[in-house]
Amino acid sequence: MDRIERIIARDPGRRGVASLVVPGDLKAAAQAIAGACRILIATGFAVGPDHVAETDGPPGALFLGRALEQLGKQVVYATHRSCFPVMEAGLRALGLTSPLEVLTPEENPQRLMERYTPDMVITIELPGRAADGHYYSMRGIPITPWTSPLDGLLPLAGARGIPTVAVGDGGNEAGMGKVADRVRMAVANGERIAAVIPARYLIAAGTSNWGAYGLIAAIDRTLLHDPTEEESLLGALVEAGALDGVKLAPHTTVDGLEPDVYLQVLRELKGATALAKGGANA
Ligand code: CA
Repeated sequence: MDRIERIIARDPGRRGVASLVVPGDLKAAAQAIAGACRILIATGFAVGPDHVAETDGPPGALFLGRALEQLGKQVVYATHRSCFPVMEAGLRALGLTSPLEVLTPEENPQRLMERYTPDMVITIELPGRAADGHYYSMRGIPITPWTSPLDGLLPLAGARGIPTVAVGDGGNEAGMGKVADRVRMAVANGERIAAVIPARYLIAAGTSNWGAYGLIAAIDRTLLHDPTEEESLLGALVEAGALDGVKLAPHTTVDGLEPDVYLQVLRELKGATALAKGGANA
């Protein structure tokens, strides 16, 4: 397990990810997810002047959701209105038919808890409110008007004793409240953007998609997809309007990382699979 944690915590963007990792949470999260039946996955971070989904988040949510469906679990996805077209295109591209819910900025996420009664809530690259109640981009720009309070799913689940898993890479995502003090110290604009809502289990990764793939690897490594399928999904998402969240351009890249760097982590996670199959304790 340490091996998977190390692979996904690679930090090519030099964001200080290593200081946000909670050792052992990946394994604990994977065990909790494996024991769940009805899983709510919330994702989507709107970027750029037109407030559209970035390419980090939806792929992680969709491939993790597909893997969980293959394990016989019920999955429902939730996102912001601004990210809906991209998520809808992603579901179609992967042939998934699970529900996709939209929460508006004015709505209470309680509605989703009551409708779907999940026994596990996962957030992936989802804005998390800061101490002042606003949501911020990693650059410290307020994004509250077009961000829905989906991070409120975490305390709603927590109050019911439902386990929660959050995946992030910058400190301003839902769940990062678990390490908010470290975000304030280690991350640029940390004082302003640090998210305050915690998750029970927190997965910090070099990009959030990697964190989701690390979870798949930790749950059942044989369910990891191929790099070619990743590229194909990214193509469908960009076609539907997604932007690279760092370049703020319609490129099939993630967080400004070129494909050789970005896809290498997926290859290594699959390589860890081969080792595990051979009996090594990765
Ligand atoms: Ca990211």
